[in-house]
Amino acid sequence: MPNNLPVYVGNETIARLIEFCKEKSYSKFLLVCDQNTYSVLGKAVESALLAQGYDVVTACLTGKEVIADEHYLIQVLIKADREGRIFLAIGSGTLTDISRFISFKTRTSFISLPTAASVDGFTSIGAPLVVGGMKKTYISQAPVALFADLPTLCRAPGLLTAAGYGDLMGKFLSAADWRLGHILWDEKYDAEIDRRMRAAVMKAAHLATEIRQGLETGIQPLMTGLIESGFCMLDFGNSNPASGAEHHISHFWEMLLLNQHRPAIFHGVKVGVASIFTSAWYARVRQISQAEVAVLLKDASFGPADEQVRAIRAAFGPVADEIIEDQKPFLSMTEQALEALKQRIVARWAEVQDIAAQTPEPATLIQWLQAAGSPVTGQELGFSEEEVLMGINYGHYLRKRFTINKLRLLLGFSAK
Ligand SMILES: [Zn+2]
Repeated sequence: MPNNLPVYVGNETIARLIEFCKEKSYSKFLLVCDQNTYSVLGKAVESALLAQGYDVVTACLTGKEVIADEHYLIQVLIKADREGRIFLAIGSGTLTDISRFISFKTRTSFISLPTAASVDGFTSIGAPLVVGGMKKTYISQAPVALFADLPTLCRAPGLLTAAGYGDLMGKFLSAADWRLGHILWDEKYDAEIDRRMRAAVMKAAHLATEIRQGLETGIQPLMTGLIESGFCMLDFGNSNPASGAEHHISHFWEMLLLNQHRPAIFHGVKVGVASIFTSAWYARVRQISQAEVAVLLKDASFGPADEQVRAIRAAFGPVADEIIEDQKPFLSMTEQALEALKQRIVARWAEVQDIAAQTPEPATLIQWLQAAGSPVTGQELGFSEEEVLMGINYGHYLRKRFTINKLRLLLGFSAK
């Protein structure tokens, strides 16, 4: 883990936290939690800090579902005084993102104390917030340290942990998409970070059963894998190493739920299901020879630009203009550029197949996710077949990247 942010995952979390605070001469804190995370860890942290004679203010957010929106951001802002308190984010992704954003805006720092191995974003600099009903990531700051209490992680709700496992297994596909974009679309790439990412994922892949049982032998590698994935993004400078077509599909579904005011679904649970689809496209790539790919690409295209623009407008409404602008490299591609891309795909087909060879079979992924207690179909997530297909067919418009979903369109693979 080259990133030098102090990280601890173990059984002596509070003692280590206090040691760190003493070392840094931190003495004033704003503890951010919700009712659940207060009872599982926050209360113990609060008592320990008070016992040291520290000045502690607690913002305990209430409500059925805490989301990083105006309502909850303001609640934390109201508790933030001008004392330069160090924020302690006690919880999963949402509470961390609220703390990340408000501590950044009030010119102080925050320490992450995750209560579930649920996402890889704890050490991220971006805070995904819902503002005016739209989700957008605001660049803010990484924590100054991360202390994860292993017994608390082991007791976390099963679906939260399964979501962390789904997010991590999705990295097999993100890493593949990253390298695919590099060889076919000249995207920036770093082989060492790719290697670190794969190593982190491999360590947890075969531990689905232990993870489901909440055993330390499973949860520890899962959490360290998620943290390492976060570091890979920090060290690379963007999310490309850990987010590919599977994340774009998941983002589309997330937007759909938000727009329709439907309950949110944990990030990694959606990523896990989307990864099964993208792994199936890599499986097909493995079966096609270079001669066959040349035939498949002969008359291939992404489709008429005007039709695509109409479809984007229908699917994305108010954010369509931004997406159309972002997708220009694909929408305004000249005949010659398309031809050059196709020739490149054929010429580098052996490398494409090598990338595909490093992704798990869809059946393997299904087996792993099921063993971890995670859903494996769109229906299990509560999506209709049409909504599942919309995620697949529109998700790739959400980022200016060349992923397996773009390659699938050129090769004429069906969505499922
Ligand atoms: Zn993710």
